[in-house]
Amino acid sequence: MENYLLGKEVVEKLNEEIREGIECLKKEGIIPKLVMIRVGENPDDISYERGATKRCENLKVAHETLVFPNTVKEETLIEVIKKLNEEKTVHGVLLFRPLPGHLNEDRILSFLAPSKDVDGVTQASLSGVFMEKELGFAPCTPKACIRMLDHYGISCQGKNVVVVGRSMVVGKPLSMLLLKKNATVTVCHSKSENLSEITKKADIVIVAMGKAQAMGEEFFSKGQIVLDVGIHVTKEGKLCGDVKTKEVAHIVDKISPVPGGVGAVTSAMLLYHVLESAIKSVGEDYK
Ligand code: NAP
Repeated sequence: MENYLLGKEVVEKLNEEIREGIECLKKEGIIPKLVMIRVGENPDDISYERGATKRCENLKVAHETLVFPNTVKEETLIEVIKKLNEEKTVHGVLLFRPLPGHLNEDRILSFLAPSKDVDGVTQASLSGVFMEKELGFAPCTPKACIRMLDHYGISCQGKNVVVVGRSMVVGKPLSMLLLKKNATVTVCHSKSENLSEITKKADIVIVAMGKAQAMGEEFFSKGQIVLDVGIHVTKEGKLCGDVKTKEVAHIVDKISPVPGGVGAVTSAMLLYHVLESAIKSVGEDYK
């Protein structure tokens, strides 16, 4: 469709910037490095790890995966994270979650240095987003949404932006990033009444509801920009989003499809953060 906001070209631009950054860092003798920590053999984690490894190799970002059995002790993971915090050749750490039930994720993550929290999941990173301070990184998906809008020259300033979803991974941090861009932000959730009346009035609608194909044409109006963050696998094994893309594409000005939209940019953003972390490390001692 002509009016699709495709993630591919945003990813290409991000990758180009990553490659350029890596070339510059080479002169300082620095190779950006991502360490992934996986507990157990969860197929989703393994699949994500495979994708991230491929992207690292493609962009020449160094990478390593540390694998632990399901029975690993909390203290073991904490010790590993503390060592990675001190390791100057490591610039980003990604811990696959959810962890097995006996492990306290929040406690483990609280030991990760925000400067290496490239997934933006620590409390320090999130408080940085909310306080507009440079502490760690914003989560990759909200950053990907902002990058999509920027890439396609869609200004948020003064616009009515409706975010559907208030999770700590997407909706809440995204609304903060949008406020920073001077948008007038409305955040909706499962208790919001008359959702369609709210979304129809927006200039930009960003949907992160986590409900497959939940929003059809009745939620949208002419001239709108729509970003669909949702990712679901249908019974037929195909990917789809929270929005009925084809139906809605006929009404709105522009819409990001699933697959091929925000998801790809989210994945690229992780390595962009690794590069940013490596750049920040030049001349700095990690704490
Ligand atoms: P989540 O934690 O399940 O949050 C969903 C949010 O949507 C909640 O705030 C919920 O409201 C709200 N909601 C649910 N039903 C609603 C309804 N009928 N009307 C209005 N709001 C409703 O999901 P998430 O982690 O934010 O992820 C959202 C979607 O994005 C999922 O499909 C996920 O797979 C996808 N995702 C994609 C990427 C990517 O890279 N593209 C990354 C992360 C997530 P309450 O707070 O009231 O429950």
